[in-house]
Amino acid sequence: MAEHSELAWAEIVICGGGVSGVFAAVAARESGAEVLLLEQQGCLGGSAVAGLVSPMMTSRLPGGVENSYLAPRLGKGPAFDPAAMDLALAALCREARVRVCLNVALCQAQVENGRVVSVTVATCRGLETVSGRVFVDCTGDALLSKLAGAQIFRGRNGVNQPMSLRYLMGGVDMARFGAFLDQWGAASGLPHTARSGNGGQSLYAAVTAQGDWALTPVFRQAVAAGDLMEEDCVYFQLFPVAGRPDALAMNHPEFLDLPDATDPFQRTEVLLRGREAIARQIAFCRKYFPGCEKAYLLQVAPMVGVRESRRVDTEYLLTARELLDHTKFPDRVAQSNYPVDIHGGGLEGYTPHRDPEKPWFEVPYRCLVVKGLRNLLVAGRCVGADFVAQSAIRIQPTCRALGEAAGIAAALARDCPAAQVDGVQVGRIMESRGAVFL
Ligand SMILES: Cc1cc2nc3c(=O)[nH]c(=O)nc-3n(C[C@H](O)[C@H](O)[C@H](O)COP(=O)(O)OP(=O)(O)OC[C@H]3O[C@@H](n4cnc5c(N)ncnc54)[C@H](O)[C@@H]3O)c2cc1C
Repeated sequence: MAEHSELAWAEIVICGGGVSGVFAAVAARESGAEVLLLEQQGCLGGSAVAGLVSPMMTSRLPGGVENSYLAPRLGKGPAFDPAAMDLALAALCREARVRVCLNVALCQAQVENGRVVSVTVATCRGLETVSGRVFVDCTGDALLSKLAGAQIFRGRNGVNQPMSLRYLMGGVDMARFGAFLDQWGAASGLPHTARSGNGGQSLYAAVTAQGDWALTPVFRQAVAAGDLMEEDCVYFQLFPVAGRPDALAMNHPEFLDLPDATDPFQRTEVLLRGREAIARQIAFCRKYFPGCEKAYLLQVAPMVGVRESRRVDTEYLLTARELLDHTKFPDRVAQSNYPVDIHGGGLEGYTPHRDPEKPWFEVPYRCLVVKGLRNLLVAGRCVGADFVAQSAIRIQPTCRALGEAAGIAAALARDCPAAQVDGVQVGRIMESRGAVFL
């Protein structure tokens, strides 16, 4: 039997310190609650920092509206450097006096009479117990909800969205590489798939297995020459990194043949096979792309890129139909017009009835209330939504807003079951702090 000692008690215990967890923690703290944030990595930010997922997408709301009131404290716009975001999120938590414990992994949950009473975490001292009044699952993987016995959904027909291993590539001459991309984009008639712009600051290129891409002939040539493998052509996408004039954020390699993002061995395969792919891809860039001759590996993401793993059964489950029809909810806590974004697959057989007057979808508060557990909320990419709806909700601006809503709701849920918290009031509190809703 493992020895347990009491690590802590907190009014609100948040498991997972990605963007949803950080925003939940700070919002709960600013509601006057005592908060403990538990994170298994050695930094905050989850996919955005350890996963090197930069830039974030925009919600595409009219007027560039963003729902999160905390977002402006982290700078303007979707572009960011993961290293700078790492520091900024740590500072945000310090300023709000959130108690943070890093390098601790949630591994068990204790439930009594429909309430989570404590969680067990693996620390550098061994297994320890953390008790609390309200718990928030921001693990991205819905691990706390699963351990507490909530019903869980996974993937579509047992297949998750593909995992990726992102990296940063340095030593790029942006002007020359940008000129090359422009030339290929123009010659192919597909300038949106390969382009520079803004003096190299909005440089972009992508190639996937489906569709027409300006750089596909270069990839085919490299495969024929043995410099790339077929799997390198599945998904390739690069972005500039804010504040790093010679670095690119690489949104690949991606693994369509590893369908279970909850299997530790498949995650390990991404980390190991991913490294082989990264070495190959950097050599390819150096050989085939003018401006990349001196490119080098700057950083491999320490964290596997998981787009979707588990989703939780909540008081309300947002469906693809509602998302595509732009259904509105009185208790909305996030709005977005980001499209359905399923890598390696699509949306079959449904014609949406969009709302031309109000072109956005909404996520109701009830998608954050875990069914059957009175003091458990969930936020981020694993909230209550079907597979297709999740593919649009998962972007960082939405996860931030959902985190904030969960934090405010958790503070209110100190006095009543989470299902009895008024979602309309949660949205109003966000607005009173500066959040903008359309
Ligand atoms: C490859 C890839 C590309 C993407 N591209 C974009 C993009 O271009 N733009 C965009 O906006 N979004 C993009 N996304 C989506 C977006 O980045 C994520 O969905 C979002 O950041 C998720 O935030 P989160 O807080 O819900 O979860 P996560 O970022 O997954 O954070 C969960 C946190 O919980 C921690 N955790 C998990 N288990 C435990 C445990 N047992 N104990 C303690 N802590 C635990 C993790 O370490 C992590 O820090 C992409 C995602 C991926 C994977």
